[in-house]
Amino acid sequence: MNRPASKITIDNSRTVAFASQASNVFFHILTQCNLNCRHCYINPEQHGQNMLSADVIDAWLSVFAKKCHEPNVIFLGGEPTLHPHLYKAVRKARQLGYRSVTVDTNGYLFHDFLTKVSPDDLNYISFSLDGATASTNDAIRGTGSYEQCVKGILAAVARGFNTSLIYTVSRMNLHEIELMPALLKKLGISRFFIQVIGLRGNSASDSHHCQKSSAPHERLSIDKNEWIERIPVVAKQAAELGIATVYPKVYLDCEEPFYCAGKVARNYFVFPNGRVYQCPLCEDFPLHSYTLKTSADHHPVLTKTDRINESDLFNLDIPEGCVMNKLIQPENISYMEDGFPEYKIGCCLLKEEL
Ligand code: SF4
Ligand code: SF4
Repeated sequence: MNRPASKITIDNSRTVAFASQASNVFFHILTQCNLNCRHCYINPEQHGQNMLSADVIDAWLSVFAKKCHEPNVIFLGGEPTLHPHLYKAVRKARQLGYRSVTVDTNGYLFHDFLTKVSPDDLNYISFSLDGATASTNDAIRGTGSYEQCVKGILAAVARGFNTSLIYTVSRMNLHEIELMPALLKKLGISRFFIQVIGLRGNSASDSHHCQKSSAPHERLSIDKNEWIERIPVVAKQAAELGIATVYPKVYLDCEEPFYCAGKVARNYFVFPNGRVYQCPLCEDFPLHSYTLKTSADHHPVLTKTDRINESDLFNLDIPEGCVMNKLIQPENISYMEDGFPEYKIGCCLLKEEL
């Protein structure tokens, strides 16, 4: 999944960050999907199983268009192209003045989606591929999904859409990450998002029950040294090929400043059951900051939830950095003999951009 961020400069030498000026609406219009990926973070129990009607989508888009100045919207699912009226939602977002409109897809592009929108309607179509080869990708995302995704990318590029690609790095596909820059170039992709697998949804095998898949689970996440030694190098290679590349910072030196996006940015992760989170790591829990309630006449109200919710956690200041990481995936942190952490875990929304 795509988590874009506009840049603020923390120092002159490196990239960075948070959407301190921008507002981003990550709008899950349904949770249904034709695939069943090993690392899927969708949790129907927590996120709902309903498909929002076109009217409700319009009404909820209007709420955020009024609340925020020219927000960005990313339409997500499940698989959002399974919604027969996604194209209407895209056009509505444009009419409402959203600064950018993106659709994240697994590449199947149902309901002839590409024929119903134009490159003027959409800033990006973002494809998810988790391997440079069919065998690696399909072991994670399902048989035939590589071929279909590549077909979708080529069709979108041929029609003049800007395309991006999301690669979620795990133990199952780390060995092919170095092959990706050349493949992206060949396919005509202009942006590359490298994601780190998180312990949410189907990947949460170590600490929670599996939400969706019946596949046996093993630990999918990679360790700090592997991340630091390999990911920035690949990102640089992709950038040198002219592909804008974004990857999460993940590890911060102890002296580096720590920012929690929940406190300094405006991100809204909206689900079809009306839950609105500010932190993606909280999405497996009923810790959402807001609820969207829709009345019978389709007038939705964005209501703050009662304490305790995720906002209370954002205010906790701990030497390990991200509080939610410490709570749900503490094995990411190692400690020195004096008990202090060796490094901090940055906010999962903190990005390096090349
Ligand atoms: S991660 Fe896979 S299964 Fe989950 S919504 Fe995306 S494409 Fe569907
Ligand atoms: S991932 Fe951590 S740092 Fe980022 S918003 Fe959530 S709690 Fe805050």
